[in-house]
Amino acid sequence: QALRAIGATQPSINAYTHVAYDAALNAAEAVDRDRKAGRPLPPLAGLPVAIKDVLCTADMPTTCSSNMLRNFTPPYDATIVANLKRAGAIVIGKTNMDEFAMGASTETSAMGLTRNPWDEDRTPGGSSGGAAAAVASGTVPLSIGTDTGGSIRQPAAFCGITGLKPTYGRCSRLGLVAFASSLDQAGPLGWSVEDVAIGLQAMAGYDPADSTSVDQEVPDLQSAVATDNLQGVRIGVLRDSIDQEGVAPSVRKAVSDAEKVFTDLGAEIVEVSLRHSPYWVPTYYVIAPCEASSNLSRFDGAHYGHRQSAQDADGAVDESLAKAEPLEAMYRASRAAGFGSEVKRRIMVGTYALSAGYYDAYYNQALKVRRLIRGDYDTAFESVDLLLGPVTPSPAFGLGENIDDPIAMYLCDLFTVGANLAGVPALSLPAGVDDEGLPVGIQLQAPVMQEAKLIAAGAGFQ
Ligand code: GLN
Repeated sequence: QALRAIGATQPSINAYTHVAYDAALNAAEAVDRDRKAGRPLPPLAGLPVAIKDVLCTADMPTTCSSNMLRNFTPPYDATIVANLKRAGAIVIGKTNMDEFAMGASTETSAMGLTRNPWDEDRTPGGSSGGAAAAVASGTVPLSIGTDTGGSIRQPAAFCGITGLKPTYGRCSRLGLVAFASSLDQAGPLGWSVEDVAIGLQAMAGYDPADSTSVDQEVPDLQSAVATDNLQGVRIGVLRDSIDQEGVAPSVRKAVSDAEKVFTDLGAEIVEVSLRHSPYWVPTYYVIAPCEASSNLSRFDGAHYGHRQSAQDADGAVDESLAKAEPLEAMYRASRAAGFGSEVKRRIMVGTYALSAGYYDAYYNQALKVRRLIRGDYDTAFESVDLLLGPVTPSPAFGLGENIDDPIAMYLCDLFTVGANLAGVPALSLPAGVDDEGLPVGIQLQAPVMQEAKLIAAGAGFQ
């Protein structure tokens, strides 16, 4: 059924970069044989799951939607992919994304853009746009995305589905191709809070092979879904962010409607502000490119990635490379051909901000501000259990609308990057549609390792 749905939607939506038709069918038949033989089945037996193409899969390509890795198949599965398979899930394919997860619209993919299933002239959001569109178009009930600055939550909101960014360290990053290592975290996207709870339960957990994964038991997240009473729960509304200029009326309304729903469920609503939130986007757009410039240095045509000779077919060398050593000329030719322009922009910004003369002024300064941002969350969570606010300033924007204006694209991350800078878990919930019929989301954030609180409140809301 999932493969048939992919066949019907892929030509227009382009959610997938790879579909494992034969392998998925064989895996499904194996589950069926076990079922008929009365063998015990694992919890996700036969469940088709789509995986963002930034997560390593041993039996499928892992391209990061980049020409740099167009022909790359990793020798191993990411830990979270292995965990899902062990739970019985069938990995049906890999989903499209902004190149190396840099973007908010899936338009920077070298595999062609992905369309929003609600309105094909709009973006599905990004960078996990393919993962969100795969669920929203009904091909799979669950997909796995990654969120460095909002890339699970924003596409979930644009596509009218549920997305959860876990606590930094809740899920292993082994086999997640690094963009910004101190911010990256994988998480589930699904139709409902219950579905993402099931997904997170299967993928999460300590991994001794990832030194940043947290050695703590994963609580029973699925039982939190049964909550229908939020008595005694204090929810802080981020009023400052909602009242900001440029926030769409439909987004404001979604949050104020949600306040009423949570009040009816017994929660107490209070107003909270995170003082340094005006610095979230500038801080993120220093730290993320700095880490990216370092992480992406491995793609040089020798260690990893597309290799391009500095010589053309006639043996001539481009003028810009003529004076370079042959090895350096090969690196430069490979990186020039392999990376798209947004990735190059991030590498240049990050390299600049990390360079000897500017390190203190930019990178070190951003780290200090990051500490203040974390402090704001700590203070807020002394008096509230959860934070409520928008996911995005507006519903899904049009294809082509922001792609030539990096600043406009970066401002889409206004409400999401805080959770990554602080490492806290955050949930994007569908909250109805606007006048044009486009989905609008709301966001809940919780203290570190408190995913169960998010799931309980989110399930109550749904
Ligand atoms: N839009 C943000 C960026 O471009 C977030 C991306 C992400 O979370 N991977 O960096």
